[in-house]
Parts: sequence; C-alpha cells; structure tokens
Amino acid sequence: SKMSNKLSTFMESGIYRFDDTNAVFIDPVRVLNRSYNRFKVSPSAYYSRFFEESKQTAKESSNSRKRKRKEKKKSHPLNERERAADQRHQELRPLLVKAHESLLRATDLLEVMSNLRGGLDSSPSKCGGLSSPRVQQSFVELGRVWQAPLYEITLKFHTTIKQNEDGGSPIKENFEQRVFPVFDNLVVNETGDEVEAEFLNSQYILPPDSGFYMSDLGQIHNLIPAESDCGFNLIVVDPPWENGSARQKSRYPTLPNRYFLSLPIKQLSHNKGALVALWVTNREKLRGFVEEELFPAWGVRYMATFYWLKVKANGSMVGDLDLFHHRPYECILLGQCYGEKNSEDLPRFKTLKNNQIIISVPGDYSRKPPLGELLLEYITGINPTRCIELFAREIIAGWVSWGNEPLHFQESRSFTRG
Ligand code: SAM
Repeated sequence: SKMSNKLSTFMESGIYRFDDTNAVFIDPVRVLNRSYNRFKVSPSAYYSRFFEESKQTAKESSNSRKRKRKEKKKSHPLNERERAADQRHQELRPLLVKAHESLLRATDLLEVMSNLRGGLDSSPSKCGGLSSPRVQQSFVELGRVWQAPLYEITLKFHTTIKQNEDGGSPIKENFEQRVFPVFDNLVVNETGDEVEAEFLNSQYILPPDSGFYMSDLGQIHNLIPAESDCGFNLIVVDPPWENGSARQKSRYPTLPNRYFLSLPIKQLSHNKGALVALWVTNREKLRGFVEEELFPAWGVRYMATFYWLKVKANGSMVGDLDLFHHRPYECILLGQCYGEKNSEDLPRFKTLKNNQIIISVPGDYSRKPPLGELLLEYITGINPTRCIELFAREIIAGWVSWGNEPLHFQESRSFTRG
C-alpha cells in the first residue's frame, strides 16, 4: 500500500502534523535519532513503561479506579482555586478532544504507533540496550560528596582512518581519549559525531555538537556568557516542582518555588532575545506563581500556552480527561525574554499560536518529549540559534544541558548501535 505523504514525513522526522487542528503527534525516538549516527536511542528503552505492561497496566488501572472512587466520594463543593482550575480545564477540553479525534482518524499513524517500541526482538533483554551494569548511577548523590570535584569523565573521540588509498581496504577505528572533571564543568562534544564516554565503569553516549554542565543550582551562574551576544535564544526549563507525591520524591529531589525565582534567565538570554518554554504541572496555585512572580522575576513576557497530551500506544489517552488531580496532559508556558536590553526596539518572535497541542506516548517517569524543533520554528532571523535546557536529564544535539543529572538518559544501555 502507498504511504501517505504525512506518514512518510513522520517516518523520517518523527513529527506528524494534523491539518484540521493545532495539534501534532511526535515520536521522541524518531526525533532524537535524526541527530545520531553510530548509535540510536532504543525504542524499547525509551518506551520502557510499555514493556512492564502486564505488571503495570493492571496496577495502574487499579490505581486509577481507586482514584476515581476517591474523587467521586469527595463531593464537597470546589473551593475558589479548584473552580478556577476547573474552568481552565473546561475551556481547554474541546481543543484536546478535537486534537485527540484527529489522532484517532489518522489510521495510518495509529498503525505505526502500535509498533513504536519496535518489533519484539528489540526488547532490551535480547539485543536492545548495549550491555552495561544494571545499576544506575546516582549523579545527584555523587555530586554532593566532598570528592565530587575529583570525579572525571573520559571522552573517547572516534576517528576512522582509511588504511589504504585504493578503497576496499578495512577502515581502522581509532579513539582519542580526553579526560574532564564531570561535575561543575562544561563538557562539550564539538564534533559532528557521537562521542562515547566512560564514568565510573558506566558508558554514556554524547550526541553530536552538544554539551552538558552537571551541577547543583548553586553553580548555574557559571553558564552565564561573558558577552550577551553569546547568550541563548531558546531556553527550555522543566523545574523539579514540589507536588507532594511520594512517588516523585523517590525519583529526584524537588525544590520549593522560591528557588526558581533566582534562575538567571535574563542573564542567560541572548541580547537579541530568547524564547523561554517552561513546563508546569496542572496545579492552579503554580499557574498563579508563574504569571505573577516567576515570569516577572525572570524578565519574561508571557506569550502562549502549549499542551502535551499523553496517549498510549493504542491511541487512547493515558487517563480519564476529567479526573481532577490526574489530567492526561501537562502545560508548557511560553514567553520571551530580552536580556538586559530595552525590549522596545528589538525584533519580536514570530507570533506564537496559542493552545497548540503536542501528542506523544510518554517515556520514563516525568520525561518530556523534545520540543526543540517545534519551538525553533518561531525563532527567525537569529542564526545560529543557541539552545539550553535547564534541569535536563538528557543531552540533545545542538543543545547545552544543565542539571544535576544530565547524563541520566544517556547511558549506553538506552542505545543500540545504529
Ligand atoms: N525534563 C526532564 C526530562 O525530560 O527528563 C525532567 C526534569 S525533572 C522534572 C527535574 C530535574 O531537576 C531532576 O533531574 C532533578 O534531579 C533536578 N534537580 C532537582 N534539584 C536540583 C538542584 N538543586 N540543582 C540541579 N538540578 C536539580
């Protein structure tokens, strides 16, 4: 059968744009893999939650049944903030439903989606992840000990040398090793190829043209460029918001809101302006904090809100759209920041369409889909664009990643040899 144009574009780019709505479907694995050469993000590792399906679906659905019962029981009238949250949800609801309906109509896409994690033979136990120890490094813990400044990472720059001029001869692989402090240091791969790295007997893959700075919040000022025309044009922030869930606490440490007020967004911004994208949870109190305190403190002017609608591989939403405390979507608040300069006579970004909806199948707990390409469309007339992700857990080609565990998803066992 002949593939539709949209589907073949999706197969290559990982992005499927629906005509009739403000919505796109993205496959993070395809998007990420466009910038990898010798290695590929393993779909079965990315969509690992689907491999524990038998265990988890049962558990999760019983949890959600419990939740529903709990929410039904709790029939007290909504307080003012809950009413505001509910109103926001009611206004958004038809847009989400419409976007979801476009997904359900795209039968060619749904067919590919059902197989996003790849064939069964790509399960990690068989040949998916490259072999490495099962224990995951806790960068957060290591970064706190007094020896942290002594820890080093070895980067193995890959070169191939043709042994013999007249082709047909074997290519000799060569690695040039260089050692860098792993904490409180900007480690960069300026080459157009992946670099394999080793840290405490674990292997990591650094994508082409990327960098990371692994530190606590207290060191973030070290990323402020000396010249403001070297600042960043795209800043994505996914803070470790507190939300009281014990499940979250066991995954990574969280911080009270006041800590985010001092993030040097203005100082990190390019003097020609930066587009700032902030992930927020659905708590109404948080929305107020961002609009009234956080964005003003950062010097960011609010522009638009995007939504991430989470679906399962079969196309259904991950949860009931109307479950009050467990929405199957999250928000991204977008704004612009003009650094220290007066914003009056500076170029504006292409107008952002409000309420765009990004649909994807979630990866690991709290892992967000890569938005870079969708956001870069709005940044025109600035070349090359410099991008940074704050509180990152992965490293992306063309970006600098900062956080206390930016190597988290770069472990070689999440990759296959491409
Ligand atoms: N966007 C990420 C992703 O897609 O995987 C998830 C980010 S998660 C919401 C927040 C991150 O902030 C966690 O990795 C957490 O360890 C980190 N974090 C918490 N406290 C921090 C601190 N004091 N300094 C730096 N990073 C911190």
